[in-house]
Amino acid sequence: MIIQSVSQLIGNTPLIELPIDVPNNSHIYAKLEMFNPGGSIKDRLGQYLIQDGIDKGKINDQTTIIEPTAGNTGIGVALAAQQHHLPTILVVPEKFSYEKQTLMRALGAKIVNTPSEGGIKEAIKKAREIESETPNSYVPMQFENPANPATYYHTLAPELIADLGDQGIDAFVAGAGSGGTFAGIAKYLKEQNPKTKSIVVEPEGSILNGGPAHSHRTEGIGVEFIPPFFQEVTIDETLTISDADAFEQVRQMAATQGLFIGSSSGAALAASLKVAKELPANSTIVTVFPDSSERYMSEHIYEKEA
Ligand code: PMP
Repeated sequence: MIIQSVSQLIGNTPLIELPIDVPNNSHIYAKLEMFNPGGSIKDRLGQYLIQDGIDKGKINDQTTIIEPTAGNTGIGVALAAQQHHLPTILVVPEKFSYEKQTLMRALGAKIVNTPSEGGIKEAIKKAREIESETPNSYVPMQFENPANPATYYHTLAPELIADLGDQGIDAFVAGAGSGGTFAGIAKYLKEQNPKTKSIVVEPEGSILNGGPAHSHRTEGIGVEFIPPFFQEVTIDETLTISDADAFEQVRQMAATQGLFIGSSSGAALAASLKVAKELPANSTIVTVFPDSSERYMSEHIYEKEA
């Protein structure tokens, strides 16, 4: 295969049927989003957000792109902005991984760090502040832009249906940070088959199940406010997965399957295994593995206590 640009490598990622013991003889399929060129599911979003801004006349060839991000969206946005030669400023709470921040810089983006304690809310505020000081700038704002769930509605979700053919999907399980992945895919799958259950996954310390907000080791998922995209989609269940359970799956996948998954993928797998216990025998469960463990080595992802 000869390609002209890495942007041609975004999407159409493999779907693995995990060869592991699943309760009730059910089957878990996971979309391997680490195979996108920037290493995560958010390459799709970066490409879509920049194209959407161009199509709507909000971005011209001189526009500075500004975005608050936990990291992977920053890499996706920087990758897409680079293709269009647009300067990029990413606002990142400093706790997010060294590897992700290094990759953003390598792509040519400027990083502005906000204090970890302020969470994503403070990064959002700072991004708006920089926008007001920067002439001809555009903030795609993944946390409220309908282009975010639309990305997944139009790309990843149809890929799942195409890959699984006639095989119905009994449950869709995915983590939520901005909520775009979950909302876009759940909406599409329910339109195809209203019986498909949609289950959202969060770490302990996220607020969806009503628990108090606190920090967690699982990176990329967990919310400080209810994603606005959730208003448009039915959520059948919210599963809260501990860091210990997520990281156990991360270690298991490397040790037994040769799969280097990040901690949000570990949480998605732990949740999928719980869902298999609740569903009838021989069910088909589909989930998403958003990125790889390799961008969390500095956070000692394979060590039990870090
Ligand atoms: N996992 C990882 C590793 C991520 O970076 C993100 C995005 N923050 C997610 C899951 C969640 O995706 P979304 O923002 O679409 O909810």
